Amino acid sequence: MNPLNNDIKFVSGVGEVRAKLLARELGISTVRDMLYHFPFRYIDRTKIYKIGELNDANTTGYIQIRARVTGKNFFGEGRRRRFSIYVADETGKAELVWFQGIKWVENRFELGREYVIFGRPTFFRSELSMVHPEVEPVEKALSRQQQCGLQGIYSTTEQLSTGLGTKGMYNIICNLWSSVKGHIVDYMPQYLRVKYGLISLEEALYNIHFPQSAALLKQAQYRLKFDELFGIQLNIQTLRSARVSAQAGFVFAKVGESFNTFYNTRLPFPLTGAQKRVIKEIRQDTVSGCQMNRLLQGDVGSGKTVVALISMLLAVDNGYQACMMAPTEILARQHFATIVKMLGDMGVKVAVLTGTTKVRERRVILEALKEGQIDILVGTHALLEDRVQFSNLGFVVIDEQHRFGVEQRARLWTKNNNPPHILVMTATPIPRTLAMTVYGDLDVSIIDELPPGRRPIKTVHYYDSARLRLFGFMREQIAQGRQIYIVYPLIKESEKADYANLEEGFAAIVQDFPLPKYRVSACHGKMKAEDKEESMRQFKAGEADILVATSVIEVGVDVPNATVMVIESAERFGLAQLHQLRGRVGRGANQSFCILMSDEKLSKESRTRLEAMCETTDGFRLAELDLKLRGAGDINGTLQSGEAFNFKIANPALDNQILHLAQQAAIAILTADPTLAEQQHYSLRELKSRYSTERDIDFSKIS
Ligand code: ADP
Ligand code: MG
Repeated sequence: MNPLNNDIKFVSGVGEVRAKLLARELGISTVRDMLYHFPFRYIDRTKIYKIGELNDANTTGYIQIRARVTGKNFFGEGRRRRFSIYVADETGKAELVWFQGIKWVENRFELGREYVIFGRPTFFRSELSMVHPEVEPVEKALSRQQQCGLQGIYSTTEQLSTGLGTKGMYNIICNLWSSVKGHIVDYMPQYLRVKYGLISLEEALYNIHFPQSAALLKQAQYRLKFDELFGIQLNIQTLRSARVSAQAGFVFAKVGESFNTFYNTRLPFPLTGAQKRVIKEIRQDTVSGCQMNRLLQGDVGSGKTVVALISMLLAVDNGYQACMMAPTEILARQHFATIVKMLGDMGVKVAVLTGTTKVRERRVILEALKEGQIDILVGTHALLEDRVQFSNLGFVVIDEQHRFGVEQRARLWTKNNNPPHILVMTATPIPRTLAMTVYGDLDVSIIDELPPGRRPIKTVHYYDSARLRLFGFMREQIAQGRQIYIVYPLIKESEKADYANLEEGFAAIVQDFPLPKYRVSACHGKMKAEDKEESMRQFKAGEADILVATSVIEVGVDVPNATVMVIESAERFGLAQLHQLRGRVGRGANQSFCILMSDEKLSKESRTRLEAMCETTDGFRLAELDLKLRGAGDINGTLQSGEAFNFKIANPALDNQILHLAQQAAIAILTADPTLAEQQHYSLRELKSRYSTERDIDFSKIS
């Protein structure tokens, strides 16, 4: 019995209650899970700060101070009870605060004794305080440091903060190590370890939790990142070679009449260079004899629809049918209208099928489809149903990829004897490196150029103190007949305070922009659905000048007359979200503006984000930067709460080099031994299955 498979509850210091918490909060249920819960960063515990040298700049991370207890106090009653300990060193004083576990803390401190205190500092009226810090008598802390200065910081959650904070995690791993030591089997063949300079798995796991030196920590990180990226690549490369070798693709040998007529006489504008390039890429795929599986990325408004249409015409010219699937009814109908209008009287037969298509009409469409009398069918998920039978489906376009995962793509394949070519389109920029890692079974095309004549949105950053200037600018724009969005952040963890901000902000706006001259409406999650719809309708119809909203408007609103997007507390939004919000304006002929409002105090990272927004409107550059600023853990969060790939340690934006090595290794092995049947590779199957890609990937969630 492999001790790594043991239930975590049997590890000393865990037990039933904590095991349940660990499972619920972090998905940890076995010893192996716990071992693979890596620190997300390390601090040097030999560094001890003086209270006097700490300031706002320190509030983003953990630090240590060494101070003497000078007093204690209780505040509040019942659930709001709070316990404070006052400490001081020769340079200043600080307050340590507990809201929970007060009884336990209370008796652990002696007045006058010196402690090492570890936690995240905050400042309140320029007084230093720390909430729920870890505290150890000085003698004990110092003796531990002599072993090694680097200590891992583990991610925990609010619910875990008492007893299972970062120190609790550390203790559990200490406790379980003795039972797994010597039992960690390395699945990596010796020759690969030599070739890529990888330390053993056991050494790596030991040093990731208990770094014996900075150099060993580096090697441990390299080994574990390599494993992760290699595991993913083993899957991706298997999928890819299966597709390339086994899936015979339809050959669209000729460029025929519809394509030429459309291109030469009906196209309402010259294509951009990027659109032409993508069409060429698709054309190459569709004559290659292999089935195409291509991801087309292009920012909102970059002109993906026409590329899709031209590609579908290629299929039609070669005697195949094409279909185009959109995530919503509205989008499907919009596409249908666009396509019908663009094609005009060319004689290409187009139909639309959605969930609300009337039974009678549906019957007619399904019949015609089966008889081959429809060339292009536009629709929603309804196209996936079994009763939708084509006579000769050759090309499929999936727009926006919301919830069309690997499995659904597979369902489309059964609609003809051979799988059709598939073009997946998304407006959410995915950095190339991430795309290569996560969607490596797809080829990627990018439209990185907007049609000419678009006026780039002007973006500026104001501090809250410039609010009067902002209001002045808003009045000017309204006087010119324009409309304005004001967006407030709404985050689950701070929902109450966020709504309070929004309400306060709304009240202030109504006061400064009074009726009858100005009309202000609001739209947020607390409102009834009808009320939300009504205020959206008013804004769309131009009956309101200002819409105050939470980030719900991020999706799907299209009001060309809105030219100003004001984002409140912009420092709290991620880059991708800011970019999406900004995309709500700049849809009409008038110059548009995005105004980022923030507090004067900004962390380095927030400042970088806001600066980047002001500098560029290029979604891809922003996405790359976003990925660099955020850790690997955050990528999980954006990929359907970790459903896609479990990046625990690698960051595909930063670990480019390792990614390339891992890819190279995977290709070499699979070329020699495609099914991992050789004895030396047999153990790699475990690694491969851990990173299996047989999951639905939700592109819409990648931000
Ligand atoms: P998206 O990539 O967001 O789906 P659309 O395909 O809806 O973008 O195109 C946005 C708008 O740009 C449409 O009105 C379309 O007609 C127009 N458009 C597309 N390509 C060009 C081009 N090459 N030149 C000018 N306008 C274009
Ligand atoms: Mg589109």
